Amino acid sequence: MNIAFITSEVIPFSKTGGLADVSGALPLELSKKKQNVKIFTPKYYSIDPSIHKFEYLHNISPLKIRILNRTYDVHLFKGFLPKSKIEVYFFDCPFFFHRSKFYTNDPDENERFILFSKAVIETIQRLYWAPDIVHCNDWQTGLIPLMIKSNYNWDRLFDKTATIYTIHNVAYQGKFPLDTINKAEVLGRLNFPIAKVEHNNMFNFMKAGISFADIITTVSETYAEEILTAEYGEGMEAVLNYRKSDLFGILNGVDYKIWNPKTDKLIPFNYSLDSLSGKEKNKKNLLEMFNIKMKKNVPLLGIISRLAIQKGFDLLQQIMPDILNLNINLIVLGAGEHEYEEMLNYYAKTHPHKVGLYIGYNNDLAHLIEAGSDIFLMPSRYEPCGLNQIYSLKYGTVPVVRKTGGLADTVYDWNEYNENGLDVGNGFSFVDYNSDALLHTINRAIGDYHNKTNWKKIQLNGMKRDFSWENSANKYIDLYKVAINKKTNK
Ligand code: ADP
Repeated sequence: MNIAFITSEVIPFSKTGGLADVSGALPLELSKKKQNVKIFTPKYYSIDPSIHKFEYLHNISPLKIRILNRTYDVHLFKGFLPKSKIEVYFFDCPFFFHRSKFYTNDPDENERFILFSKAVIETIQRLYWAPDIVHCNDWQTGLIPLMIKSNYNWDRLFDKTATIYTIHNVAYQGKFPLDTINKAEVLGRLNFPIAKVEHNNMFNFMKAGISFADIITTVSETYAEEILTAEYGEGMEAVLNYRKSDLFGILNGVDYKIWNPKTDKLIPFNYSLDSLSGKEKNKKNLLEMFNIKMKKNVPLLGIISRLAIQKGFDLLQQIMPDILNLNINLIVLGAGEHEYEEMLNYYAKTHPHKVGLYIGYNNDLAHLIEAGSDIFLMPSRYEPCGLNQIYSLKYGTVPVVRKTGGLADTVYDWNEYNENGLDVGNGFSFVDYNSDALLHTINRAIGDYHNKTNWKKIQLNGMKRDFSWENSANKYIDLYKVAINKKTNK
């Protein structure tokens, strides 16, 4: 199959969150399974073509892309995913993409991704490459299924192209004023009710993706069910229910070439299932980095996260004094909302021998925290898939999570699963979103931390589980076939 994978971020070139990891890993796995994948992504200012040895595509660029009455030059570069033959096409339009952040609140944010969407489709046309599948991700690419069916439906190249739209987080929808319809020029060419792209009197990129893609996916089975409800659907529940028979959950895999304590080059001491002694040494190293003395039998709680309300920081905030009364250490790596940065700063300053804090983005430290912590905290309000808890499992770092979305699909509560005779308990979880439940669950985890036999078992249950892309990529291939069938039988 020819698969066009369209994404607004992809490792190692650009990353703000899990979407980048998925975009770097899924195409690799698909290509291992003999699928022909090309990736299409913006070239943000921070991506330096000379470092990555990109080729400038003189034969195609500059593309001239028009939005309303202005025409923009879009320059195309071609690179490859590292150590692979997967082509990555980068779209450079300095006016739109040379900004300090990948995503902005600027008034032309809608135009930035209209331009990207059109440029992707027109590049595929110029490559004379007929995709069987166009796989779109998140709101930034939500217009593409619609554009293929409207603006570009004159082109026979797309006659057999089926579209897939993957929701990585239903909360980020790309909502803009209704005049976006004119900017994208999507009305007039196809007769459809405006309700397919409009929600609460706003033009909604994600709603367009959900309405027009042949198949919709999201990144875990539980999240696929949750987003059908008003509690989790963020207003998209009605259109998702309408498309329910075409909605599927596929858990993200993780890349064990990057996240494996046995081979991880970013941690000082490697370790594995057979011998966990390196883990203790990493813990010492990590604590020393923050000038915290390592004491025997004192569990180290780790957090790596965007500091956002989604991740449960409001709960943590309520019980920080209680947590700090416990005989524990806490190390947090994160950046995001000012309120939570302030809160964490306060506790790091008032409890310097107990709390280590790094505000910012630091991949090396993320690896060391996974390797050196005993317990990983992820009490998310909602979590489409979540990667850090899956990395934690592999690193023998026992996750304490709220039972929601991908967390529910990967972390099995030690008490619940063992009481039921299932020998798979690999972490601790709670259901009700409140701080008492979180504190109680942290205490349960600490209780078992002091029972060395139980703890080892919990760690090993996690380390043994395989969440690699192999399985998930097969599921995507099956769905691609379903989408193609749907398209052919229309
Ligand atoms: P989300 O995409 O919602 O932020 P995920 O758990 O799916 O959450 O993915 C987060 C990814 O970003 C993980 O790979 C995690 O290690 C990484 N990450 C998050 N915050 C930081 C940070 N401050 N420094 C380094 N890596 C981070």
